[in-house]
Amino acid sequence: MRAILVEQGGGPEVLGIRELPDPVPEYGEVLVRVRAAGVNRRDVWVRSGQFGIPAAGLVPGSDAAGDITAVGPGVVGWQVGDRVVVYPGSSCGRCEACRSGRTNCCPQFSPTNGAYAELMAVPVARLAAMPSGITFEEAATVGVPYLTAEEAWLRTGAQPGQVAVIWGATGGLGVAAVQLARLRGMRVLAVTRDEDKAERLQREGAPEALLWDGQHSLAAEVERRTGGLGADVVFDPLGAATFGQSVTMARRGGVVVTVGTTTGSRVELELREVFTKRLTILGAFLGAAGLLPRLLGLFSRGVLTPVTDRAYPLDEAAEAHRALEAGHVFGNVVLTP
Ligand SMILES: [Zn+2]
Repeated sequence: MRAILVEQGGGPEVLGIRELPDPVPEYGEVLVRVRAAGVNRRDVWVRSGQFGIPAAGLVPGSDAAGDITAVGPGVVGWQVGDRVVVYPGSSCGRCEACRSGRTNCCPQFSPTNGAYAELMAVPVARLAAMPSGITFEEAATVGVPYLTAEEAWLRTGAQPGQVAVIWGATGGLGVAAVQLARLRGMRVLAVTRDEDKAERLQREGAPEALLWDGQHSLAAEVERRTGGLGADVVFDPLGAATFGQSVTMARRGGVVVTVGTTTGSRVELELREVFTKRLTILGAFLGAAGLLPRLLGLFSRGVLTPVTDRAYPLDEAAEAHRALEAGHVFGNVVLTP
């Protein structure tokens, strides 16, 4: 099979296409012909060796949608030809967290790789049936972004009418957060650095876009737009450059959600601000496996519409990463092996 193999961590140029042996499904696994793979910010971190795992010798990519081409021993309930979406994490399946449905709290939980390839061997516990009404390209964009955003909104206890500030609102994760917040009836203040994207955001259902120049604090602007209260929830995938502001713009009793570190992961925190305002700081990272079928159903029934910027052929994975890192993307990017 053809696959993108990172032989050594580095820039987009390390995403070289290789001919690798076809994987063979082991006990409890199926072989999935990947029709589309989602390109996530996490893949950039993995590629460049910034995710705590060595990038060398690794096929990147967490999100995939495709069809089953072979079934390994011991597999019941899945057949050749079934269309599936691959859950982007693995867990032990036996511990208390797994058995209560909180797979992403399993001590052995880890996000998975291997989607930038024509074929993947996948344990059946990580399969979700792909519903009708969506394409492979759309289905491949649901996993990492929507699981993470949904987990964040579920755990913040988001309520209709609450104000959500969403940093990085035009990326894959940001668009997912905007859509799922709107679905809950929240008022969304969507932050972007690009005027054209602000207009696009308005068309996508976020009428209040805040333009940020990358430097100045938006806390005063948020305060002004909320009658002096601040935001109920601040959704922050950017990290170092914005987290201090996120704490400042959260209202008394509000929640600051950290979901990524695009601008760096070390921050200085004014703890007095955190406890005197009774803030909750909450981390969200993917969501439980059981969320995936429910999210897919929202797309299948037309409740949500995926926003895909562009599909690249597999051998243009480096181009896809360059576009993502340069911020030239609105919504999601996919590879089509
Ligand atoms: Zn477990």
